[in-house]
This record gives sequence, structure tokens and C-alpha cells, in this order.
Amino acid sequence: MMNENPKIDFAAPVMGDIEREALQRVLDGNILTDGANCAEFERGFEKFTGGGRALTVSSCMAALHLSYLNFGIGAEDEVIVPAQTHTATAHAVEIVGARPVFVDADPATGNMRPELIEKAVTPNTRAIGLVHFQGIPCDMERIMRIAQANDFVVIEDCALAMGAFWEGKHVGLWGDAGCFSFYPAKHITTGEGGMLLSKNDEFIACSRKIRGFGVDKTYGERQIPGMYDVDELGLNYRMSEFQAAVGKVQVRRLPDILEKRERNFNIYAESFKNVKNLRIVKADNKKAKSAYYGLSIILEGTLSAKRNEILARLKKMHVGCSVYYPQPVPRMAYYRNKYGYNPENYPNAELISDCSITLPVGPHLSESDVEYVAQTVKDIIGGCKS
Ligand SMILES: *Cc1c(COP(=O)(O)O)cnc(C)c1O
Repeated sequence: MMNENPKIDFAAPVMGDIEREALQRVLDGNILTDGANCAEFERGFEKFTGGGRALTVSSCMAALHLSYLNFGIGAEDEVIVPAQTHTATAHAVEIVGARPVFVDADPATGNMRPELIEKAVTPNTRAIGLVHFQGIPCDMERIMRIAQANDFVVIEDCALAMGAFWEGKHVGLWGDAGCFSFYPAKHITTGEGGMLLSKNDEFIACSRKIRGFGVDKTYGERQIPGMYDVDELGLNYRMSEFQAAVGKVQVRRLPDILEKRERNFNIYAESFKNVKNLRIVKADNKKAKSAYYGLSIILEGTLSAKRNEILARLKKMHVGCSVYYPQPVPRMAYYRNKYGYNPENYPNAELISDCSITLPVGPHLSESDVEYVAQTVKDIIGGCKS
């Protein structure tokens, strides 16, 4: 043993000379927002996903908001969303005045169950706001079939799914829009930031306009300097050149990041194979290529009531863990107070929120780090008395 107690972070950004040099070039120039770096980041992102048009935005939440705005979702409309997700998925629906209708998760993958989507449809349903839970792609053929039969808009929250493919097609390219996040804990980061991806050029053009206050002429399109009109209500959801300079070089790191995440995931999976009362959330599906955001273990049987105790012990051992997500969104105070909450409708979302632990798989972990975390988890679990 070289080191008795290594400190393992849950997530750590990968930053180095290429990011430093890219940032230095922005500092040395005089264009600080929505310039060549944003365009390069967008083109690099399109190349990685293998299709569609990409548009830099200030966050995934901004991308989701622009999506619902531009597809005309609003008051009286309902959008079917998963109960087990980040609150942004539902907030984006709420912020345009529509109503999120929550459906429960599949306990094996954490993704929303397609048969529950069908059950949640009402005459007011206009869209499905799905999430690829921890980078595990949803069954996109099945969901698109439901959407096409009902003429629903499909907005994909891909915040944890950079590098996830369903049937060889990158997530975010199946539905009408894909929304990505570059928050520090995600696959790649720009500090804060996001990307909107779509095969629909007209939607991207509208989003670009709303992203910049609804101004009718970009800087370059103005015949007379300083002159423009505004014919639409807009926002400011642009990305700065500082962020985009980092993002455009982070894309180059993706293949290596994804490879290490998958390797680390598989080390845990192997190590936890025969552990009693412990199950891992994963996609065992030939069609689904996961982005391996994290590895969630579900504690079952006598362990299920010990989750918080185990989390506290892991923290004491300096093993960074998290919970994705800490509550089913409809149970969070804002939604509970507004719409009421019946736990019987969300047994699997409750199970994931209350009985799971997400372990780190990021590229900052070596193989021996992962083995150490897995062993620590097993030791703590072994010491739990029922
Ligand atoms: C992190 C996350 C978001 C929010 O992303 P921001 O870029 O911080 O707005 C949205 N959805 C999911 C599923 C997330 O995990």
C-alpha cells in the first residue's frame, strides 16, 4: 500500500496546456463573445455527434428553454417528463407556462418507461421532454414511434449524455432538439455553458435570434453600423469566447474521456458482481451505447435503509460520491406545493433517489483508484449490520 487513504473526487475537470493556450489567444484578441471560437466549437461538436446543427448557449437550461419557446409550447400545454431527473428538465417546461407531467423510471436503467409515456397522454399533451439518465440512452425508436403517432415535439435533455448513441445515432439527433451541458461535473466543461443540437435548420436559426435579444441583424449583417430592429421578444443566452475557446479544445479530449469512463465503469461492474443486496444501474442493450456518466448502485434488502449512513462513511473516507438525483422532481417543494405529490406514482424514482449512490468514473480516476473505491464500498457494506 503506497497510500492508505487516497482522496477521490467525484468529478474533476480535465484542463491543460491546450485550454490555457486557447484562452490566451482570446485574451490577446478583441472579440470576447459569439465569435470564431463559438463557431469552431459548434463545428467540432457537429463533427463529434455526426450530424445536425449546433448552437452554443449559456447553459443546458438555456437550450431547453429556447427549445420549448421556439416550438411554441406554452399555457394549457402539457409536456411529459421523467420524475427521476435534474430539476432543469421540468423547470424549462414550467418557465414557458406549460405543465410538466411526470412519469416513473425503469428501475434497470433509470430512464422513463415508454409504456408510462403512453398512459400519461391527454388531449393537452404537446411534447415529450426526455432525459438520457446518466448517459444511458432511452429507447429512441419506441419513444419516437409514440411521438410520431401523436404529433408530439421531442426535446432530449442530453446533459449527461455526450457520447451516447442509440442504434449508432448520437442522442439529441433523434428528437427535434438535443440540449447539452458543460457545467463542471459533466463530460466536458466550459465552466458554465451549453449546446443546442438539431437537424432542423429553421429551429436553429430561430433559436440563434432569440438567443440574442430577438435582434433581426447580426453584427456582420448590418449595412449601417449600429442599426438593427427587433421584431421578436428575446433573451441573452450567448456563450462567451472564453468559454467557447475552452469548449472547442475539450471536444478533442472526448474520445479519451469516454474510453476511461467506460473502463472505470466496467471495473466496478466486475467488482460488484456477486455482492448481495447491491445492483448497478446500466444499459444491457446492443442498441444502446452509454456515455457512462457515473455508476449508480441501488441498495436493496437490508441495505436499502442504510444509504445515508453509507454515504456519510464514504465521505469520511474521502471518497467523493453523489446521488442522481436527490429527489424525484415532483417531490421537490416547488412541484409538490403546486401539483401535490403521490409517492405511489413514482416507486422507481423514489427507489433511485432514496436508495442509490452514484460512484465516480471520471478520467481523473486510475484503475487502482476505482479498485480502491469499489473495495471501500464493499468493506462499508460488509460492516453494515441489519
Ligand atoms: C446538469 C443537468 C442539467 C443542467 O445543466 P446546466 O448546464 O447547468 O443548465 C440539465 N439536465 C440534466 C439531466 C442535468 O444533469
